Amino acid sequence: MIDIQNISKWYGQFQVLADCTTQVAKGDVMVICGPSGSGKSTLIKTVNGLEPVQRGEIVVDGTAVHAPGTDLPRLRARIGMVFQNFELFPHLSVLQNLALGQVKVLKRARDEANERGLQYLDRVGLLEQQDKYPNQLSGGQQQRVAIARALAMDPVAMLFDEPTSALDPEMINEVLDVMVGLAQDGMTMMVVTHEMGFARRVANRVVFMDAGRIVEDCGKDAFFGAPRSDRAREFLARII
Ligand code: ATP
Ligand code: MG
Repeated sequence: MIDIQNISKWYGQFQVLADCTTQVAKGDVMVICGPSGSGKSTLIKTVNGLEPVQRGEIVVDGTAVHAPGTDLPRLRARIGMVFQNFELFPHLSVLQNLALGQVKVLKRARDEANERGLQYLDRVGLLEQQDKYPNQLSGGQQQRVAIARALAMDPVAMLFDEPTSALDPEMINEVLDVMVGLAQDGMTMMVVTHEMGFARRVANRVVFMDAGRIVEDCGKDAFFGAPRSDRAREFLARII
């Protein structure tokens, strides 16, 4: 489904990703963790072409992400991405936020886009908020709208970059619960998070990054049971 082959990336002289290789199979839930600055956000952004790479290649569902002719807007519609800071359109209502990409990118009729929007709003428990504007919602609600908006595009996979780290503690679970539901429904997911409870519950794979490298890439039980690298052991000791 997602095939990351030997990618390397530099910002000027600074190497931010060093020869990263991993594969995400259909239905996998991969949690990516590691210290601040280790390259987690950069790695996940390379998957939908938000960040270019200098070496290597990524193929998502048969499409080479960084090939010259790739239609990136279309690819990004097929790979949902949810960031730390919600990134809803502030001047559009919740339902308009859900419909926009469907109409613009997928060329769906407005009625169909609204219908699907409502279906996914219902799924994240926010049907009654459809006419509100983002600034009238809590952070947890905004993040659930962002997830619903991505889902309405019928993505083949979902990428999450610390989706709960900007939320007040009492809102974290409402977002994690939606993500757990998605995982249980078989959505292919790459999730950068420090929520190790989530990782233990639903991840089947854990990638640990350090200084731009993938230093562990293993099953969840292997990771939590006996991480091989000292860096991962130290990280886990601090975080759990
Ligand atoms: P965090 O846990 O703090 O979110 P991260 O693992 O997501 O960290 P990245 O954001 O991928 O790390 O950044 C990796 C490294 O690349 C950091 O040292 C960062 O300073 C650097 N970096 C990120 N973006 C740029 C940029 N646009 N220009 C130069 N350096 C950058
Ligand atoms: Mg980051």
